[in-house]
Amino acid sequence: MQIVIAGAGPIGLIAARGLEVKGHSALLFDPTTEKPKMSLALAESTLTFLDSLGISEPVGEDLTQIHVSERGVPGSALIDAKVLGYPRFGRAVCSQKLEKILIESLDGPIQTRNVVDVKARTAVENPRVKLEDGSVLAPDLVIVADGGRSHLTESLGLKPSFRPFGRSAILGRIRVERPVLGRAYERFVGTGPLAILPLCEDLYGFVWSVEPARAKYLQTDRCALENLLAAAVDPELGAIQLASEAVVIPLIERWIDRPFRPGVVLFGNGAQTIHPVAGQGLNLALRGLKAFIDTLDYLGPDQAVIDAFGSWSNDRERTRLLSSSLEVLFNHDGALRRLGTSLGLSMLDQSPWLKRRIAEAGMGLLS
Ligand SMILES: Cc1cc2nc3c(=O)[nH]c(=O)nc-3n(C[C@H](O)[C@H](O)[C@H](O)COP(=O)(O)OP(=O)(O)OC[C@H]3O[C@@H](n4cnc5c(N)ncnc54)[C@H](O)[C@@H]3O)c2cc1C
Repeated sequence: MQIVIAGAGPIGLIAARGLEVKGHSALLFDPTTEKPKMSLALAESTLTFLDSLGISEPVGEDLTQIHVSERGVPGSALIDAKVLGYPRFGRAVCSQKLEKILIESLDGPIQTRNVVDVKARTAVENPRVKLEDGSVLAPDLVIVADGGRSHLTESLGLKPSFRPFGRSAILGRIRVERPVLGRAYERFVGTGPLAILPLCEDLYGFVWSVEPARAKYLQTDRCALENLLAAAVDPELGAIQLASEAVVIPLIERWIDRPFRPGVVLFGNGAQTIHPVAGQGLNLALRGLKAFIDTLDYLGPDQAVIDAFGSWSNDRERTRLLSSSLEVLFNHDGALRRLGTSLGLSMLDQSPWLKRRIAEAGMGLLS
């Protein structure tokens, strides 16, 4: 099958590789060559999928423990993969390094051209893809993996719903004095959740959800950001130093219930952008993409899309809910909420069952 993919972010790249492995021909378009550097927690389900595409163990660090705590209150929970019988929960990687490996794995180069229009299949014609130079392609299938960054969704007549969280993510890297191998941190600091991922040795990635004006200010005042982070991270990491410029991304949920048309399907952030606090956006999208690519083995593209979305929809809804609830629950600094968190974390720490459920959801293993 001839497939055109609009967008070569992680989803477009992995879709191209996944389709090539199955013997399809994929043409990938993306005009942007400079991508932001992000830290990504790849779930075990993602690593297994990548491994099946010949991409094993992307550079990064295995995640073996997750420490959940709130600043200033007693009670915390340590979720340990080995105690639950798993070698690890996943792996933390740098997005740019992952994308580089993916690009090298492809049969052909990325075409650095913008896709300006996509039309669904009609009774008599294949779907149409128009490029910025005016040329038109008519492949068997179009995958829109534009991250929701272009007007292609709207031009297909699809209407995303948007839910702004009134927050921005400020992200970057820090070096810490006392690294703990394989341990990631989810820390609630009153202003919103702060996630810290181990990348290699003493280098960690951070993502912190804060008010938009504060995020903008902290982006320009390196010293203020470093001081606030030093006070916010778990004390066991010791002193910290900023190791990169900070990037700010507004946090908005974008959602399309049925992101497809005849001969055209949206995957990735264009179909659903969820809150990043639980580190699930890419992992979730890849579970849907894998279901689709596997179903293409025995069904035509339109029926494969419908079947794949059908089998994946519970996972999709559950991950959306889980990711947004964490923000809603933890962005208030009230005493009652903090007391609840303290009790909740103490209970979680005593409950292997709950730890297993949380870990398996994060690993993409819940069905
Ligand atoms: C702060 C933060 C932390 C995150 N952490 C995690 C994590 O730990 N784990 C996880 O699983 N997920 C995480 N995510 C989510 C993850 O980053 C996204 O799910 C993922 O990047 C989406 O990839 P994508 O390919 O859909 O979109 P993008 O990465 O946005 O890529 C879209 C690409 O399409 C191109 N494009 C746009 N329009 C066109 C067009 N018209 N023609 C051609 N090309 C076009 C763009 O240039 C771009 O390269 C995080 C997100 C954020 C914001």
